[in-house]
Amino acid sequence: MAAPKLARYQQKRDFEQTAEPSGDNARVTKSDRLRFVVQKHAATRLHFDLRLETDGVFKSWAVTKGPSLDPRDKRLAVEVEDHPLDYGDFEGTIPKGEYGGGTVEIWDRGYWAPEAGFEDVDKALAKGELKFVMEGERLHGGWVLVRLRDDEKSKRHNWLLIKHRDAAAVEGDGEALAAEDRSVASGRTMAKIAAGDGKGATPFMTASETANDAVWQTHVNPGSTAVASP
Ligand code: MN
Repeated sequence: MAAPKLARYQQKRDFEQTAEPSGDNARVTKSDRLRFVVQKHAATRLHFDLRLETDGVFKSWAVTKGPSLDPRDKRLAVEVEDHPLDYGDFEGTIPKGEYGGGTVEIWDRGYWAPEAGFEDVDKALAKGELKFVMEGERLHGGWVLVRLRDDEKSKRHNWLLIKHRDAAAVEGDGEALAAEDRSVASGRTMAKIAAGDGKGATPFMTASETANDAVWQTHVNPGSTAVASP
């Protein structure tokens, strides 16, 4: 049962106002492998939400500068509340004034697995170190998430996301990857998503392609005639 884990997620959102999923796992397709999604999110500050499927929810981190393929780059990853699995298909706009208001693009997605010695993911996260591999469209190979010592002033847990040295690592120009602005789910740029143009995201976590598109588009451009009917 994933529901109790999503209490914080649901508390922060008014589902009358936002088209984000309320966490209906019945819509989520079964998968033999664990899935991950990275959503580029132009909220108050641009960031990249890394979501790793674990135990029926997405463990989530807001990576402020986005992932880097350069193993010398240590990217701050702020732990945020668990998200429902159907959130991984969300691409569109969260209305201004709502929690996380801004445009969301599905920037990468695929499968992930803990490395040997980290198979008990909950335990690894509790201890503050998770080594894992990702196979997505943009992110490949080994990575590590390491928790920093908690800052007493902050309620958040801060982590670092670091690329392992392997065949998928690229030294230098750590900003290049995050600058890529095309949804892996719809081919749209952030600007197109914000404008409500182009086709909707193809599903990965759920089976309902048509409903997906309609739901995600509903609040894309509030007050404009471009808003699709639900
Ligand atoms: Mn976010």
